[in-house]
Amino acid sequence: MSQWQELEKQYFMRTFDRVPVTLVRGEGARVWDDDGREYLDFVAGWAVNSLGHCHPAVAGAVTEQVHTLIQVSNQFYTIPQVQLAEILVQHSCLDKVFMCNSGTEANEGAVKLARRYGKHHLNGAYEVITTTGSFHGRTLGMVAATGQTKFQQPYVPLPSGFVNVEYNSIEAIEAVTSPKTCAIMLEPMQGEGGVNLPDDDYLAQVRAWCDQKGILLILDEIQTGMGRTGTLFAYEQYGIEPDIMTLAKGLASGMPAGAILAKDSAAVFTPGEHGSTFGGNPVTCAAAYATVKFIVENDIAGNAKKVGDYLMDGLRNLAQKHSVIVNVRGRGLLVAMEFNRDIAADMLMSCLSRGLLVNKLKPNALRFIPPLTIGNQEVDEALGILDEALSAITNSGQN
Ligand SMILES: *Cc1c(COP(=O)(O)O)cnc(C)c1O
Repeated sequence: MSQWQELEKQYFMRTFDRVPVTLVRGEGARVWDDDGREYLDFVAGWAVNSLGHCHPAVAGAVTEQVHTLIQVSNQFYTIPQVQLAEILVQHSCLDKVFMCNSGTEANEGAVKLARRYGKHHLNGAYEVITTTGSFHGRTLGMVAATGQTKFQQPYVPLPSGFVNVEYNSIEAIEAVTSPKTCAIMLEPMQGEGGVNLPDDDYLAQVRAWCDQKGILLILDEIQTGMGRTGTLFAYEQYGIEPDIMTLAKGLASGMPAGAILAKDSAAVFTPGEHGSTFGGNPVTCAAAYATVKFIVENDIAGNAKKVGDYLMDGLRNLAQKHSVIVNVRGRGLLVAMEFNRDIAADMLMSCLSRGLLVNKLKPNALRFIPPLTIGNQEVDEALGILDEALSAITNSGQN
């Protein structure tokens, strides 16, 4: 174990199940460890480095901004914040933006906004319906929203006001909707929960139900947004529009930024009702603005679709050869590969030793969430390594 890993054990809280690599540098889809070993990065900071590591457009914007103005309070106007809000509104179906620092915080704010809406328009309705297998973040509120008991159990009792129902079932939503309901909050495709795609008509059904009941649809596009699934936002693929949408992860290609976007009709906060010290910080907003601008001007979402399709074809070919693979699923560059047994941890280590970083989604599944700027060559390289790792693991095992 390297000295840094020893020191981490001594000083850092043990919340992360880390891979024994200390990364010191990144460029494009590559990162290097403290021994100078190179890796192809199909984790990308958990779907964060949308333009890869240290993209010149992002690094340039950050460098310029840190030499100009790093932080002031939201008591004042700043330019990067407004530029970012404008470009997000221009390229989405939403009208107003609030900036914060993480995905969890964006979701917390979205739920607060829905509760304000409930007070204004729905006789004080406050309950938010969420789904099983979802992931909305780590604060107590968002743990309550997240429909996975493993995240909830250690922290009960949880804040009230959330009802978790089965994903991909409009009937389940209908059954729990009541006069207390102010919103439904969903991921258009579930990321952490397993790369789960709903049926094609699910989101349209949910949208219609929200319209019928006069309640809000909040889409958590923290993982699916910013081109990850082949369109700038995943909702575009389902022919619907949310009332509120949350973003983070890929928004600033590595800088910590979160955003709440809302339709004018739902943007009911008044001054003092919500806020943030660092949210909308000039440096993170400059990074996010540069990221969004690059994504839309260079059709990075289109690239994610094209390369994602190529990746999924390649993984399906691997499944022909390796019977241990039972499922390949995803959209764009949000892709999962599932096995018939729990080899994900071994696969992760085997890929690591061959120079490929992957994410363990479940004991029996890997997730691939590389930078959206990769091409087919990087996919070919990753597929070659996966093929070798699969052969090594299934030959040494009983298969
Ligand atoms: C990662 C994620 C979050 C939490 O974002 P943080 O920035 O880690 O707080 C919330 N929702 C979804 C869908 C995510 O993928």
